[in-house]
Amino acid sequence: MLEIAGLAKRYESRAGTVTALAETSLSVATGECVALVGPSGCGKSTLLRLVAGLEKPTAGRIRYDAGGERDIGVVFQEPRLMPWLDVAGNIRFGLLDLPRDEQDRRVAEALHLVHLEHAAKALPKQLSGGMSQRVAIARAIARRPALLLLDEPFSALDAFTKAALQEEILRIRDETGVGLIVVTHDVEEAVLLADRVAVMAGRPGRIALTLAIDLPRPRERAGHGVQDLRARILEALGQDRIETRAA
Ligand code: ADP
Ligand code: MG
Repeated sequence: MLEIAGLAKRYESRAGTVTALAETSLSVATGECVALVGPSGCGKSTLLRLVAGLEKPTAGRIRYDAGGERDIGVVFQEPRLMPWLDVAGNIRFGLLDLPRDEQDRRVAEALHLVHLEHAAKALPKQLSGGMSQRVAIARAIARRPALLLLDEPFSALDAFTKAALQEEILRIRDETGVGLIVVTHDVEEAVLLADRVAVMAGRPGRIALTLAIDLPRPRERAGHGVQDLRARILEALGQDRIETRAA
């Protein structure tokens, strides 16, 4: 569904050249969930922005073919809602090119998918952080994308809300068949969510290692399978000792 080959991005400025992403190749199958993990500044967001078409690559190509006109959705760390529009209005905002009755149908479908029917008329300032982020997910999913890009979507949330939303995004994937690329610096989250984890390294940004996560679902956060893979990835990141000390 998505094929990235030889993709690179350099930023030029008076201070010099930053290779945010060196030649990178990655493919994502229909309905697959790939997590990108890596230290701050290793090019995770750059890679997502290139895939989303928000920036132009310096080299390489991106082939996205989901059949028909199904597009790519994006969810950021902050919900980025319009404060003057209610929840339904925020979801509708991304659908204004569609006929009114189709908008209504999609808004209802998206609200149902994130279990926020009761909050349709609420304003963003009345929502908790977790609810706001569910609205952001609903807004993206309302366009029925074949691929959803999430850039550290849960890192601003408390541990309980985060765990609930991790389960929710997996349920949404099951119900819609949407593929996911999730950027996270939470290695446990990557192992819980992903079919494959790409471990990135910085200077220059690149994928250092890709690991298949062949654990059955639902996955148990504290189970051996999840924790063993988490330890392996932390080791690959060179962060195993730092995290152990912090914990
Ligand atoms: P990550 O999301 O992994 O933390 P980013 O993709 O945001 O990393 O950034 C990768 C590198 O590219 C960093 O060194 C960052 O400073 C640099 N970078 C990102 N965006 C720009 C920009 N618009 N101009 C110049 N440098 C940038
Ligand atoms: Mg980032």
